[in-house]
Amino acid sequence: MLKSKYILFIILGIVTMSCSSEKKVEPDNFKYYSESFADLRIQRYNVPGFDDLTLNQKRLVYYLYKAALSGRDIIYDQNYKNNLYIRRTLEAVIRTYNGDRNSADFQKFMVYVKRIWFSNGIHHHYANKKFLPEFSVEYFKQLIAGSDEYELPLQNSETPDDLVKKLIPILFDPNVDAMKVNQNPKVDLIKSSAVNFYEGVTQKEAEEFYKSLANPNDPEPVSLGLNSKLVRLDGKIAERHYKTNSIYAEAIKQIVSWLNKAVEVAENENQKKALQLLIEYYETGDLKKWDEYNIAWVKDTSSVVDVVNGFIETYNDPLGYKATYESYVSIQDKEATKRIKAISDNAQWFEDNSPIMNEHKKKNVKGVSAKVITVVVESGDASPSTPIGVNLPNSNWIRKEYGSKSVNMGNIVHSYNMFSNTSGVLEEFAYSKEEIERSKKYAALADDLHTDMHEVIGHASGQMNPGVGEPHATLKNYYSTLEEARADLVALYYLMDQKLVDLGVMPSLEAGKSAYDGYIRNGLMVQLARVQPGENIEEAHMRNRQLIAMWAFEKGKNEKLPNGKTGVIEKISQNGKTYFVINDYAKLRNLFGQLLKEIQKIKSEGNYNAGKELVENYGVKVDQQIHKEVLERYKKLNIAPYAGFINPELVPVVKDNEIIDVKIEYPEDFTKQMLKYAKEYSFLPTYN
Ligand code: ZN
Repeated sequence: MLKSKYILFIILGIVTMSCSSEKKVEPDNFKYYSESFADLRIQRYNVPGFDDLTLNQKRLVYYLYKAALSGRDIIYDQNYKNNLYIRRTLEAVIRTYNGDRNSADFQKFMVYVKRIWFSNGIHHHYANKKFLPEFSVEYFKQLIAGSDEYELPLQNSETPDDLVKKLIPILFDPNVDAMKVNQNPKVDLIKSSAVNFYEGVTQKEAEEFYKSLANPNDPEPVSLGLNSKLVRLDGKIAERHYKTNSIYAEAIKQIVSWLNKAVEVAENENQKKALQLLIEYYETGDLKKWDEYNIAWVKDTSSVVDVVNGFIETYNDPLGYKATYESYVSIQDKEATKRIKAISDNAQWFEDNSPIMNEHKKKNVKGVSAKVITVVVESGDASPSTPIGVNLPNSNWIRKEYGSKSVNMGNIVHSYNMFSNTSGVLEEFAYSKEEIERSKKYAALADDLHTDMHEVIGHASGQMNPGVGEPHATLKNYYSTLEEARADLVALYYLMDQKLVDLGVMPSLEAGKSAYDGYIRNGLMVQLARVQPGENIEEAHMRNRQLIAMWAFEKGKNEKLPNGKTGVIEKISQNGKTYFVINDYAKLRNLFGQLLKEIQKIKSEGNYNAGKELVENYGVKVDQQIHKEVLERYKKLNIAPYAGFINPELVPVVKDNEIIDVKIEYPEDFTKQMLKYAKEYSFLPTYN
């Protein structure tokens, strides 16, 4: 099931959700990896199809690209009110410091700045905790003293020494603004969170303020508080909106001016209307306009170029009202979208041929529609760390009345896949050369197909027995795990079916074998690298993967095979390393079919106890011995767990004041891109 935003925060080689077209599976000459520092690594992505756009589409992409980057400063300020002047101070040092740039201390300083760029501030983008410099306060003083005073963001009559004094506790004291978003309900969530959405108000006041505004009987409620900061003005609590004449005006005006250009080259009337509504929203801050915009955006399904731009996700507000700025611009991946459509068009065939009981089959099943996009640029909260797929808008009533757009970011996922081919995880955990080669050849496509089948067919398949009620109400805390397992099993079952070959979406069953290898390797071993020593598995997707892999392993363990081997999946120890090897793919497929039938039955009947037994017996407990081994083997590979991306850069070719072409370039250096962005898109004042 798609969350509003799904993120590959995990270690590569473990899991990929995906979509990218078949033509891109072969290794190419593009350099996908750039560098690693701290727990972060920087990758690159390419944009196949950009050169095939028409001139008008290229202009459109370019204007939306400029709009996206124009809002970049906003996320820094939203994350923490001191982020902008911290960043500008440190960037001034990089530009003008006259001391030794090859020293170990300067390298540490650069790592610190790169971490800030990666996280859009001084708090870890995922863990939320403030990270500290690894250089000393003394060295920091030396850096500032050795930099050009006129480049430092000094306020009024401030001296560089004043600036240093102000920054020392903010940067070096772990107790000052320690957490970006605090989730511990025992303390005031606003006071204990460093995010900059509230000023001078307590959690209780903020909650009461929004409660008083909410109308529970409104069938079309706006997303209260989404685009404003809540402040105390003259003793009264009030909202200050993010719009062209209030907070962030300098950046939003830039966004609007680029959107206005985009309107002129919109691909069709629907898209034009959507962009106009977005502009009106930015000019008024009116949340009704935001809803109107989203409805128009959902209706625009035919445009090749698409954009998300706005205050979208509320994960960073501990109270869940305020949204962070993000934007990404994309073009549709027609090949990959065709693949999804071929699968979706055959939804009834998949339902009719499923191994589930007849009474649990839908008579009229409709595959979910989804598309694959190629990202051209990302900004704000979506960059450098990015989701790999998004399902928007977030407003529930709009989703219900008008639907939503579900997209997979094909070229981002492709970059992840290409990295994982070289990360060493495969070589470490795969048993045979054959398995490694098959994976290099087919795993990316197999992953894509798995995701397509899971999303488009899996979740949509099956029906409830009459009178059982909603499955999440009957299966409760086990629902997510069982539902994810069900969708995975539909995918796995058909990945070894000739039907996918006949549909032209899979070259041969070898791709299916590679999917099976990867699933078992991951479910029984590799994913344990994400579990802390001594702990069991908590996360629903991880539980479902172990459940399926472990169940199949246990069920087929003692089976004597025609080739003399024992076990459909065999556990092999070699040179002190454990491997799980599939001996019979057809038999494993059968086992997946049996488990699918079983889990569908549990869902259709709402059998809580049977569901609980499956999950608790196979999905939760970790084999301590294997876990320890996995952690050791994984650690040796030295993989930075979090990835972020350098964006491509668009360069217009101008003649007589007209854009006559747009070129795409692929920079290789993260630092250079961040400094370039700082130079070109620093629209907000340093001190708000
Ligand atoms: Zn799912």
